[in-house]
Amino acid sequence: MSELVFAAPAGVVVPVAGGGLFPVRRVFCVGRNYAAHAREMGNDPDREPPFFFCKPADAVVTGGEVKYPSATANLHHEMELVVAIGRGGADVAAADALGLVFGYAAGLDLTRRDLQDEAKAARRPWDMSKGFDESGPIGEIVPVGKVGHPAAGRIVLKVNGEVRQQGDLADQIWAVPEVIAALSKLVRLEAGDLIFTGTPDGVGPLVRGDLAEGEIEGVGKLRVRMV
Ligand code: MN
Repeated sequence: MSELVFAAPAGVVVPVAGGGLFPVRRVFCVGRNYAAHAREMGNDPDREPPFFFCKPADAVVTGGEVKYPSATANLHHEMELVVAIGRGGADVAAADALGLVFGYAAGLDLTRRDLQDEAKAARRPWDMSKGFDESGPIGEIVPVGKVGHPAAGRIVLKVNGEVRQQGDLADQIWAVPEVIAALSKLVRLEAGDLIFTGTPDGVGPLVRGDLAEGEIEGVGKLRVRMV
């Protein structure tokens, strides 16, 4: 008889608006999906197909407090619409892609910008700049039945009451159906996957004590205190 050599880790779950818990399987993130943000990072927004990176599932946190991470002196906020996948699929057409979506949430793609800059310069992977502990705080997931499929609406992040990021979902270079279609050609998507869909411009630093409050019109809110 084979038994686990230690207890399996508890799965990561995100509360669902109206009740229930969404079990997280994997976390995918889109890079540079708003033209103004691509430009502020020194890139040409016009010629790039969507590209993806990952965070571990247990980077997702919902408690409202995030520990300032080790090994950085330049932690950045990236306010993003998060797509919660509820049904699996591979090689999905954009026209069918929204059928995979369970719901949507507001999330932060926290980034060790100094380590990312070093990784870019050395042509190294982004894992340690993007996939660290507690790097994916997220608000509650709102089911499609309540929120529909938001294709437009203000996405805003305030830090200590001051607006730092402000954009509109309609300004995404690759809309949600196109993001799902592209990603599903690279991996088979499964129920429980989350997709962070990229950030508008205005990214900047967070320090200990900061209160980050995000809102996506028609979707929901996120409130994170850095401790
Ligand atoms: Mn991002």
